[in-house]
Order: sequence, then structure tokens, then C-alpha cells
Amino acid sequence: MTARRIDGKAAAAELHERVAGAVRNFTQAAGRAPGLATVLVGEDPASAVYIRSKNKATAAAGMVSFHHQLPETTSEAELLALVDELNRDERVDGILVQLPLPSDIDDKTVIAAIDPAKDVDGFHAENAGKLATGLEALVPCTPLGCLHLLRAELGSLAGLDAVVIGRSNIVGKPMAMLLLGENATVTIAHSRTRDLPEVVGRADIVVAAVGRAEMVRGDWIKPGAIVIDVGINRIPTEDGKGRLVGDVAYDEASEVAAAITPVPGGVGPMTIAMLMRSTLVAAHRRAGIADPEGL
Ligand code: NAD
Repeated sequence: MTARRIDGKAAAAELHERVAGAVRNFTQAAGRAPGLATVLVGEDPASAVYIRSKNKATAAAGMVSFHHQLPETTSEAELLALVDELNRDERVDGILVQLPLPSDIDDKTVIAAIDPAKDVDGFHAENAGKLATGLEALVPCTPLGCLHLLRAELGSLAGLDAVVIGRSNIVGKPMAMLLLGENATVTIAHSRTRDLPEVVGRADIVVAAVGRAEMVRGDWIKPGAIVIDVGINRIPTEDGKGRLVGDVAYDEASEVAAAITPVPGGVGPMTIAMLMRSTLVAAHRRAGIADPEGL
């Protein structure tokens, strides 16, 4: 079997287009465009690339982007003062503080300071709690993107066996909650799981979010499963540039799975598309307008 390659880039492009249409409607109804504030502390090159893509996508969707670049030496108090200012700024619907933060700033304190209504990353405990209890929440963008791809592949996920590898607050846990919300039977595997290949082998849906290059092998996968690879790992190459691979051995898994996301070009592009969607949704809720449909 050769698995279908799930084209996250194409799915993201479609979503960007639909979001841009809904942004136009919102702007007409509310008399202003939705706004996303991004905050980058320091000069981490990977973070700088992510933030640039996010700001570009915001502008392309017709939303307003407010970027705040702070020096590496910024104190926690200074960052909290900026978050407070953004919380009170009526033009700002979404606040995204790019992680990781410098080591002397506590990311938990910063996340807790963000107004949950503007927490488009969905990391605030209030949003995590709402997701876990089935209430309307802002949901982390990466697992939301994975769910979008799974729904497009499978339609209903009800009754399917899903294994999520990884239990981070950013990907693994919210992914498991979303799958549970779709009535899948969910297993969360992690670094202490015994016999991971056996656990993975039971799954109709595998979501790998570990951060270990090609850890999930083809012979772990149940024939016909759908594989969503969240991992982004750079491995060395002879030319010194390195190459991006996922947490799943793509070629091997392609021989067994029904469909699989590539790295790059799978989950990654969906994350930014979902950030645009969440900013738009936050703007609607803050303005007291019903959530946009069909996104
Ligand atoms: P994390 O380091 O916070 O969590 C990794 C998880 O993997 C942990 O819960 C740990 O228990 C589990 N784990 C570690 N070793 C394991 C093992 N041997 N067997 C089973 N489980 C093991 O990472 P994260 O933030 O959840 O990110 C995971 C990966 O996804 C990383 O590669 C990251 O770069 C990538 N990521 C991609 C996107 C995207 O947009 N595509 C977004 C976020 C994260």
C-alpha cells in the first residue's frame, strides 16, 4: 500500500481564503478589522521565522498585526506590563507571546496574565479547563489543525481508536481532548509508556508529537491507519544544511498507512491557518457576534 499524502499546505491555503472572506464580513459588521498582537522576546532565529510568518498571514487575511519585538534582556515585569497593555487595548483580539521565553522569565506566569478571551494560543488554564470540560474555548492551534486534517480524511471519528504520542500542554493533551470530543477512543502515550509499538499498533489514528526524528517505525503502524506527524526535527546532512523530518519514518509508514502527513508541508502550515481562524473567532466573541460558520 502507498499511503495518500495529506497535503497540509493545500488545506491551509483553503482555510486562509475562507478566513479572509469571514474577516471582510466581520470588518463590515464591527466597523474594524480583527487584530493580532505578537510578542517576541530576544532573537531566537526559529522563533523569528515563525513570528514573521504569523504577521504576514495576519496582514494577508486583512487583519491588523501589532508586533512587539523586545530585547533578550527584558524582565518578567516588563513583559507582564506589555501583556497588561495588550489586554486593555480594544483593537487587539488575540495576543501571542512566542515561546520559548528567555530562562529568567517564567512562561507560566506570562500565560496566566493573558486575558483568556484573547488567548489565541489556547494555553491559559481557563481555556484548557474549558476544552477539558466541553465548554466553548480557544484551543491550541496545532492540535486544532490536526483535527481539521483528520476530519477532512475521515469525516466522523466516532468509535475509532486514536493514539496520541506525547502529553505536552501545547500539543498532546489538547489533541487528546479534541479527539475525545469527536468520540474517538483515546490513548495518550508518553516517555514512560510500556511497549509503545504495541500501543501504536492498535490505533486507527496515530498523532505523533514527541520531537524525536523518525522514532515511529513503519512496522508499528496498523495497516490502513491515518498518521498525523506533528514532529519537526532537523537532522544533519552532508552539505551541513540539515533536513527536516517528522517523528514518523515517512517512507516506511507510507507502505502501511492509508494516509500520512509529510514533514514539512503537513501539520506546520495548518498551525498558522488555525491561528488566523482563532483570532477571527476571538474577535467575534469579543464583539458579541456569533462565531463565523463553515471554518
Ligand atoms: P514536548 O517536548 O513538550 O513533549 C514531548 C512529549 O513526548 C512529552 O510529553 C514526552 O512524554 C513524549 N516523549 C518523549 N520521549 C518519548 C518516547 N521515547 N516515547 C514516547 N513519548 C515520548 O514537545 P511538544 O511541544 O509537544 O512538541 C512535540 C513535537 O512537535 C516537536 O518536534 C515540536 O517541534 C513539534 N511541534 C510542531 C508544531 C507544528 O506546528 N507543526 C507545533 C508544536 C510542536
